[in-house]
Amino acid sequence: MSAFDCVIVGGGIVGAALADVLSADGVSVALVEARSIGAGTTACGMGHLVAMDDNAAELALTSWSVSLWRELADGLPRAVEYDACGTLWLAADDEEMAAVSAKVANYRAAGVRAEVLDSAALHEAEPALAPGLVGALRVVDDAVLYPPLAARTFALRAQARGARLMTGCPVRELRSGSVVISNGEVLTARHIVLAAGVASPTLCPGLPISPRKGHLLITRRGAPVVHHQLVELGYLKSAHGTDGASVAFNAQPRVTGQLLLGSSRQPGDATREVDAALLERMLKRAAMFLPGLDGLQALRVWTGLRPATPDGLPLLGPHPEKPWLWLACGHEGLGITTATGSARLVADQLLGRTSPIDARPYSPARFLAVSSREVAHA
Ligand SMILES: Cc1cc2nc3c(=O)[nH]c(=O)nc-3n(C[C@H](O)[C@H](O)[C@H](O)COP(=O)(O)OP(=O)(O)OC[C@H]3O[C@@H](n4cnc5c(N)ncnc54)[C@H](O)[C@@H]3O)c2cc1C
Repeated sequence: MSAFDCVIVGGGIVGAALADVLSADGVSVALVEARSIGAGTTACGMGHLVAMDDNAAELALTSWSVSLWRELADGLPRAVEYDACGTLWLAADDEEMAAVSAKVANYRAAGVRAEVLDSAALHEAEPALAPGLVGALRVVDDAVLYPPLAARTFALRAQARGARLMTGCPVRELRSGSVVISNGEVLTARHIVLAAGVASPTLCPGLPISPRKGHLLITRRGAPVVHHQLVELGYLKSAHGTDGASVAFNAQPRVTGQLLLGSSRQPGDATREVDAALLERMLKRAAMFLPGLDGLQALRVWTGLRPATPDGLPLLGPHPEKPWLWLACGHEGLGITTATGSARLVADQLLGRTSPIDARPYSPARFLAVSSREVAHA
């Protein structure tokens, strides 16, 4: 048996970021991953580091997380491809342009740099966009990166500080004070953190996490040149809808001269097959915004499963019925962005420190306490 202060189950971007933060704090850590670091949803994500203002809790966590990424950026290897390109939220009509004015105020109130571009300024900023767009909101400090290598960087930094990295080790069972690996090895620990993304309910039944499938496509080199991460404002309707499949235009410039194109959402779908009809819808939408895509070849298409909670916020904190178990899961479509802030929030709670933002909106008790009361009264 090996003893640690903390065993983290799941080496995606969230578990790896937590291993990095805890090991820097002198905590003895084991990071246990069934496959390889970043091989889960993290390998399928787009890598947009984005401040999102759908609600106050989302804005607090995303904007803080983006600023933490910015602090880390100089220390990241080039292969992580961190690029502070900013985001343009595109307004296709006057109604969406009205939303831009509300959003800019929201962002600025949270200390996030944002500005409004009219139609002429937008087309000067991004000449490859289709004519006719009304304007855009530019969020200056957003960035993009390559998620699996970011996760690997965190894990290797933790390992260099003495953390034990265990890959190819599926965890079979979580117990109070220990974690059982499928080969029978038992790791004892004062704290256990479940960061297994969409697989978390397998190890802790009852967690309110369900898959939300998404498709992405990467083009060959020679794609229209774009300078920002581009997202249609209609994305917000698609991202937060809960019924039916939806698509929205989302294009990310890569330093390789390729474009990463998204995205789709299929709530509750845990399959990994590419849905050709949905992909076609996604590409038609992309071509409406970027006409230069016509005739360009795709290099690869893939899907991934976002770990979604009912309110779109992650579960960060102690399990209310199992005080020995900490949760760091359920990040839906924002887990690359919020890995840095999530890691700090969980580490601060574990070590009894105050965090710069209020951790309560992400407390697992908001779901799990209710379900346990219902059981008690059943
Ligand atoms: C199409 C798509 C686009 C996206 N785009 C973005 C984006 O632009 N920006 C953004 O912020 N987010 C984006 N996301 C969301 C983001 O990818 C996820 O929120 C994030 O990767 C979740 O990270 P995680 O560490 O919680 O989970 P994962 O990366 O899934 O990591 C969990 C790990 O746990 C391991 N595991 C599972 N079971 C066990 C077990 N029993 N024992 C040991 N290990 C286990 C898995 O192998 C996996 O490596 C996107 C997602 C998709 C699908």
